[in-house]
Amino acid sequence: MSQAVKRLAIGGLVHETVTFLPQETELAAFEHRAVRGDEIARTFAGSNTVFGGFLQVCQDNEIAVEGLLVAECAPSGPVAAAAFETMADELLSRAALWREEADGLLLHLHGAMAARGDTDPEHTLLLRLRAVLGDDYPIAMAMDLHGNVSVEKALLADVVCGFRRSPHTDMAETGARAAKLLLGKLAGEINPVTAMARPGLVLPSIFTATEVVPLSDIMAEMRVETEQKRILDITIFTGFAYADVPAIGATVVAIADGDEALAIRAAERLSARLAEAREALYHSAPLYDPEAALDKAAELLAEGVRPVVLLEHADRSNDSTHLLEAMLARGPNLGRAAVPYLHDPIGAMAATSSGLDSQLRLTLGGKSSELAGLPLLFTGYIKFAGPLRYEITGPYRNGETIDLGQSAVIDNGKIAVIVTSVSSSAVDTDPFTQCGLDIDEFDIIALRSKTHFRAAYEPIAGAILIVETPDWGPAELTTLPYRHAPPGVYPITMTSHDDAFEDVTDDGINYAD
Ligand SMILES: [Zn+2]
Repeated sequence: MSQAVKRLAIGGLVHETVTFLPQETELAAFEHRAVRGDEIARTFAGSNTVFGGFLQVCQDNEIAVEGLLVAECAPSGPVAAAAFETMADELLSRAALWREEADGLLLHLHGAMAARGDTDPEHTLLLRLRAVLGDDYPIAMAMDLHGNVSVEKALLADVVCGFRRSPHTDMAETGARAAKLLLGKLAGEINPVTAMARPGLVLPSIFTATEVVPLSDIMAEMRVETEQKRILDITIFTGFAYADVPAIGATVVAIADGDEALAIRAAERLSARLAEAREALYHSAPLYDPEAALDKAAELLAEGVRPVVLLEHADRSNDSTHLLEAMLARGPNLGRAAVPYLHDPIGAMAATSSGLDSQLRLTLGGKSSELAGLPLLFTGYIKFAGPLRYEITGPYRNGETIDLGQSAVIDNGKIAVIVTSVSSSAVDTDPFTQCGLDIDEFDIIALRSKTHFRAAYEPIAGAILIVETPDWGPAELTTLPYRHAPPGVYPITMTSHDDAFEDVTDDGINYAD
């Protein structure tokens, strides 16, 4: 199929930026799992990641791979300007080096990266790549369903495909879709033309689960559209609500084979569906405050429904204490509870030096921003302490090795907290097994995640309750102090600015306007 293609370059800079968070994301956060050159193939081959998908297509077509740079880290605050420049420079110089040898570039960008001083660094990167590689150089791009995909950014690639599922269990499939379309184009078998439509809305991440109505209905309609003759690919990007940028919002990207009118019709039809369903999409599940959630959990447990998963979804830094504080206050009236994935490097180190089975009194969490709640005094016994590095067994990012750094289990008899040194949202049940805990023992599991937990926890949860707390990732978007989002993106209104937020955001996001 692709006789002419001998070699493809692979690279990516991946970050979902919460611009409201005060702390910048420095280069070290990306370097923690950055891979380069041949290491990229060794790291991702066979994994359910975008790069795993790219590699599979290359292998199937006997195409050599040139790894450039892959740098990614967990969602966090604005990328430091110097960090972005360093990573972009490296990717560009490696791409320039392989420009002649490689027949094209397979690129993975999240779609919602923002850097200090640059609200769309991915656009900046693509402009620079075009300057180095040339306007005709073949580039296929795979992006996250949560990308804020502006038209100008997307049209700098020949092909744009995004995840269609959240939890993102189709990462490898998405990488493969993008790679195959590029190969088809290079072989002259297809002529991909792209159309885009933007419905003027953005969804809170918690309501982007693609198997939950009404989004699941619209995703099903999208799949029907893709079955049309000459439609090559369609993605519905839901947008990322916590990046306050001009490009914020949902986007439909449709690719047709040589038929622009067909692509436009498909993109506009789905965009109109999203727009007309916007109110239902925005309120697709009930929200509980911590007290109401614990009351409801107690009711469910009394009926024999267990475990109850409580989702502290607004916590974008994996360290907020609002729910844990309410749980502690319940004392003996709380069932047996687990709090995995609490990010607290200082707590993890303290537990490690304290030693196994020793009793420790320490403050936990609440360090990322003033909206994360106060650090909580917690006394418990150390039941595990050590490095936590393992291969993910759940469906999300299956097969990839994750390194949560020095970690510990601190257990007060009612609540077992798993603290980690590296921030990760709750994507699987592995920390329980890795730390020697039996997940079946717990009545309540308090998670920090938006949709990814569903792949591993939906099958085992008796019930899932969404807990709304005053942190930087709320479901109620109108409570956030947007400044760069344009008017007309539902439900953001530019009149929602609250003076109480002004001081916080002055520290947090002074983009160059
Ligand atoms: Zn995502």
